[in-house]
Amino acid sequence: MDFDLSPEQTMIYEYGKSLARTYDRAYWMENAEIRRFPEEMYGQIAADGFLGTMVPDAYGGSGLGMMEMLLFQEGIANEGVPLLSLVVGACMSMSIIGERGTEKQKQQYLPGACAGDIRFCFAITEPDAGTNSIRISTLAKPTPDGRFKLSGAKTFITDAGESDFALVVARTTPHTEVKRKTDGFTLFIVDSKARGIEMQPIPMSIVLPEMQYQVFFDDVDLGPENVLGEVGKGFDILFESLNPERILGGALCSGLGRYAMGKAVEYANDRVVFDRPIGAYQALQHPLARAKTEVEMASLLARKAAWLFDNDMPCGAEANMAKLAASEAGIKAVDASLQCFGGNGFTKEYGIFDLYPLVRLTKTAPINNEMIHNYIGEHVMGLPRSY
Ligand SMILES: Cc1cc2nc3c(=O)[nH]c(=O)nc-3n(C[C@H](O)[C@H](O)[C@H](O)COP(=O)(O)OP(=O)(O)OC[C@H]3O[C@@H](n4cnc5c(N)ncnc54)[C@H](O)[C@@H]3O)c2cc1C
Repeated sequence: MDFDLSPEQTMIYEYGKSLARTYDRAYWMENAEIRRFPEEMYGQIAADGFLGTMVPDAYGGSGLGMMEMLLFQEGIANEGVPLLSLVVGACMSMSIIGERGTEKQKQQYLPGACAGDIRFCFAITEPDAGTNSIRISTLAKPTPDGRFKLSGAKTFITDAGESDFALVVARTTPHTEVKRKTDGFTLFIVDSKARGIEMQPIPMSIVLPEMQYQVFFDDVDLGPENVLGEVGKGFDILFESLNPERILGGALCSGLGRYAMGKAVEYANDRVVFDRPIGAYQALQHPLARAKTEVEMASLLARKAAWLFDNDMPCGAEANMAKLAASEAGIKAVDASLQCFGGNGFTKEYGIFDLYPLVRLTKTAPINNEMIHNYIGEHVMGLPRSY
């Protein structure tokens, strides 16, 4: 067994440091506070060839895998500059088009997406169904001429208003009419400017550069050219994107945890109260050491999940456990760091409290930790279904 990163992987992991020389945490925060997509940083990532990490070379990407995507996200989050857009765009949408798209779709979308000229969002969540995705009711109704009419509503769709296309998970057969509950799903590549689409930004409390939207579809005309994969068999494809989403969400959290702890160590070595650096006090040191251990454990688990994914092996158990472990470790790391800073932790100047909302978000999204526990209990350990 080899835990070493290759020189190329090391370079990808270290990339965040060079990116953060220009686009640092302050740049990320400035954009987040005004809800502005960090165009320049995104453009730089595209120019440096990282948007297409999981896209085959033939379509403008680097032909690498989940591991490299994870190292990239972790590397930038280590510097305090995480990007949700990478999860929904580069990872969930672009890689899956590279994997499952027709030759025409790959040529049409991927080179532009890798260059940063075309952006994607991923739309599955619905206001009524919520976590119970089986019950989504957005319907792409087949028409006699072989086309579809898409109607329904999605919510919390990251970057929808800034994206050129959405990967929309819809039903082509309602859940009441299918034999198996996972039948009847189809993925569509939908032009965000198509007639019949309306969007509303959701006023969010969490401060992020990416906006979240409600998206409404009213008889949107789609053709076979919009279908990703096979009609009615979208659920399998969906699972190919959900495990990577969990792995990458975990990477984001581990990275932010490391960033917070790095800041805390610096501060705690420097700040003297009662004649000693506060880092010498075990009440501060031990929670940091504990959080450090948990972040590194979560990161290892995510790397194992990525390795399994890249080697075409089942990775559901590891991807779910990695996301659970990373979200909890990230929260602990930020909390332990915050305590070191005393009152300064709550100031804009030090910005530690600002790290909390995003790590806390990962307990709820992209999938809540309760469902992760359910998955582990039922599918990994063989316990009865709890819901
Ligand atoms: C910032 C942000 C970005 C997002 N981006 C996207 C995106 O780009 N695309 C997209 O499709 N979606 C996106 N989402 C949606 C996200 O995936 C959902 O919010 C999340 O899956 C939870 O669904 P819900 O909000 O409907 O909660 P609900 O389904 O209403 O659940 C509420 C709570 O109930 C509990 N719960 C539910 N079911 C169970 C159960 N069986 N057992 C135990 N507890 C349970 C959980 O604690 C859960 O947090 C985003 C959300 C946020 C906040």
